[in-house]
Amino acid sequence: MARTNPNFDKLAAGYLFPEIAKRTAAFAKSHPGAEIIRLGIGNTTEPIPAHIVDGLMRGAEKLGDLSTYTGYGDEQGDSRLRKAIAEDYARRGVKVDPLEIFVSDGAKSDLGNLMQMFPAESVMAVQDPTYPAYVDTKVIVGGTGEFNRQTGQYEGIVYMPCNRANGFFPEVPKEKVDLVYLCSPNNPTGAVATKKQLAKFVDFAREQKAVLVFDAAYAPFVRDDSLPKSIYEVPGAEECAIEANSFSKIAGFTGVRLGWTVVPQKLQTESKIIYDENGKPKNSLNALWNARQTRFFNGASNIAQEGGLYALTEKGRSECSELVDYYRENARLIREGLAKRGIQAIGGENAPYVWLENPGKMKSWDFFDKLLNETEVVSTPGSGFGPSGEYHTRLSAFGHRANVEKAVDRIVNRLKI
Ligand SMILES: *Cc1c(COP(=O)(O)O)cnc(C)c1O
Repeated sequence: MARTNPNFDKLAAGYLFPEIAKRTAAFAKSHPGAEIIRLGIGNTTEPIPAHIVDGLMRGAEKLGDLSTYTGYGDEQGDSRLRKAIAEDYARRGVKVDPLEIFVSDGAKSDLGNLMQMFPAESVMAVQDPTYPAYVDTKVIVGGTGEFNRQTGQYEGIVYMPCNRANGFFPEVPKEKVDLVYLCSPNNPTGAVATKKQLAKFVDFAREQKAVLVFDAAYAPFVRDDSLPKSIYEVPGAEECAIEANSFSKIAGFTGVRLGWTVVPQKLQTESKIIYDENGKPKNSLNALWNARQTRFFNGASNIAQEGGLYALTEKGRSECSELVDYYRENARLIREGLAKRGIQAIGGENAPYVWLENPGKMKSWDFFDKLLNETEVVSTPGSGFGPSGEYHTRLSAFGHRANVEKAVDRIVNRLKI
């Protein structure tokens, strides 16, 4: 007799975006003339730049020609793209072997699938607030207890609070943990960790033989050269860290679907390495991820990968940089508008998100309603990202300039505080 996976019933964070949609739809219905501007969901809005589109078209054309047609490619990704990604790391002085780079259909899938390499009972630590996907996959594999409505936390997960007092980057956990998820530049706070802050986690992970999972999806937004774009800029990270990355936010590939994950050969865990007859490690994390990808993934789209290759050329990189600057300017406008109203906010400098402290210490959903009612702007309530997100709001800089300007103007002139 089949049963459904009962862990799905535990998912609590899933209420966030459906609840936003529900409240927004109700508002639209009761205010038919309203011109709603969405600064809620982190989805790209600007077109893919011309040279990168050429790459996508080239990818499609090749498929229509007998001499260049290809079917399934390598599960690990097109070797040209893996090499181009490694070269991109090298520009930052980071040495990554193309064999450690696994191209995928996006970081979100990888971040979920990574959990298959670890026992369900592994103890996971997350930043609080955090991108919900990390915790949700842990819940689905049965690696947590119930969601506690009082604390806003799942039993069995270690929450590392990020707040103004610690500069929105956590201290290392006091308890023993197996997996630590870090996201920098951070979604939702827009905070960027310094090399020194990351080094503390690298030291902690190496000491405890824990694995860091570093989500670098917003790395291209880092313009301050003293801030790290990759965990591997920290010495020793190749022994303890996996890095997930994506073309989504840099090249507007949210709908194209292309990302990659670095799983270093040198990664260490508590498990003793077993070698095969050729002297190759059978159970290193790199070997496990390769085994996982070759079994359950048939490789990223060859069209998307051709686009990715073009995105990493000199021309493509300069186009990506312009695109990122467009969103960074949006973020600057948002920060400037909030400052005019005396609203405390962080982020938005090296990230597309601005994280604000709700005026009057309003609760997240109350401020969501107030902002919607008074300015017709949709935001994301901070509490949806974890208990420390309460009394905060995330505003996304992904949007057309004219809409962002209009939203900021309304916040400046219509919000009653
Ligand atoms: C958008 C985003 C990603 C990227 O996901 P893709 O699946 O590559 O589109 C990863 N992590 C975070 C925190 C994100 O916000």
